[in-house]
Amino acid sequence: SDNTNAKGARPQVSYKPEKWMLSQQADDTLTQLNLAIVGHVDSGKSTLSGRLLHLLGRISQKQMHKYEKESKLQGKGSFAYAWALDESSEERERGITMTVAVAYFDTKKYHVVVLDSPGHKDFIPNMISGATQADAAILVIDASLGSFEAGMDGSKGQTREHAQLIRSFGVDQVIVAVNKMDVVAYSKDRFDFIRQQLGMFLRTCGFKDSSLSWVPISAMENQNLVASPSNTNFKNWYNGPYLLDAIDSVQPPTRELSKPLLMPICDVIKSPTLGQVSACGKLEAGALRSGSKVLVMPSAVMGTVRSLERDSNACTVARAGDNVAVTLQGVDGSLVTAGGVLCHPDFPVAVAKHLELKLLVLDGANPILMGSQLEFHVHHVKEPARVSKILSVLDPKTGKVTKKSPRCLTAKQSAVIEVILEEPICVLEFSSCKALGRVSLRLLGRTIAVGLVTRIIEEQN
Ligand code: GDP
Repeated sequence: SDNTNAKGARPQVSYKPEKWMLSQQADDTLTQLNLAIVGHVDSGKSTLSGRLLHLLGRISQKQMHKYEKESKLQGKGSFAYAWALDESSEERERGITMTVAVAYFDTKKYHVVVLDSPGHKDFIPNMISGATQADAAILVIDASLGSFEAGMDGSKGQTREHAQLIRSFGVDQVIVAVNKMDVVAYSKDRFDFIRQQLGMFLRTCGFKDSSLSWVPISAMENQNLVASPSNTNFKNWYNGPYLLDAIDSVQPPTRELSKPLLMPICDVIKSPTLGQVSACGKLEAGALRSGSKVLVMPSAVMGTVRSLERDSNACTVARAGDNVAVTLQGVDGSLVTAGGVLCHPDFPVAVAKHLELKLLVLDGANPILMGSQLEFHVHHVKEPARVSKILSVLDPKTGKVTKKSPRCLTAKQSAVIEVILEEPICVLEFSSCKALGRVSLRLLGRTIAVGLVTRIIEEQN
């Protein structure tokens, strides 16, 4: 086929989307909003997420009762809501949330996917995997005396670190949930003080005042979450939005509707009896409908969309932002693989194994050396990789080169490196598609660095 093109370059032909691709959501599904919940350890992130799910009907009374009983048994009664989110009992025994728990609830405007993230120092990497997928974030602050101050403390304060990280991943809309207002008797002065202090810091991180909203809450006492406060002290002075309102006021995430189709495949379902194969994933760009021709990468075979399903219901059109199962016809099932990408026939993704990356080495990571063997992750792909060059160390604030060709990289450094993967994978530069160019490097099950693909050095044909 003539789908191959010059090294690293996208085709020169310009893409013109068809009319049906651009129209706003035809059916009445809510827009999906990926929401990261970040903040200092013990600020109340898990309690808050558990509360929201409970209040919005995603956790039944019976389930909640079970969680309450279980947590009482272990003498950790106050963790009941947090438990609603934790999945394994191992995590429960430790009393902390370990993984990026994913849960859903609906507001008037959004289908909210909660990317919960623990605030424990060791678990910063999980917070990052949440932040890389987020359209917006809730930054949870513990309002109690001393706790807010600890979160802002220069070297150990996670509030500062989290704010900087979400910003560096391009999340600019933040709802600051000032939690545990019950502990400070719903004091307006305390709320104003926190807003003033933290507001100053967030502005230095590059957040705009207009994309921040400030909501005092008590996750524990259910104040100002899904309705205006009922506490007398609180409602005497507060007449702003409650948390759910603030979520509905977030600007809808931009969907790449007018770009050519890109759908990274996270799962493949085969039904040999029907001779069908379905690729599941989220459309990152463009649109599909039955009859659409797609190019299945990295196999580079053409297929035709036979039908589409969303949340187990047949649908006629899928557009950027939608999670769908795409049933293909005319394709050998073995050529459709998880980690592959469905593309517009004229605009294939790159298939490459030699990449330049811009990285942030995480806290507590061992040094990264030339020749280091790591596990490379991008969209739904995981591939062994070797560090082939360390080009430069960058100043994390300005991005300027502070050192060329260093011998190794250590924790908290930002750097440009080259990697060579064992096998070629589907990938794009971050500048052309965030979802296909956002990477993490792992070693022994731990994320040691996160970053972006800045250059595809060599494409395979
Ligand atoms: P995380 O580490 O940020 O997920 O915090 P958790 O949700 O586990 O909460 C930490 C502790 O703070 C637990 O003991 C909670 O019961 C408590 N907590 C959470 N929200 C509130 C609140 O609004 N008021 C009070 N008084 N305590 C809270």
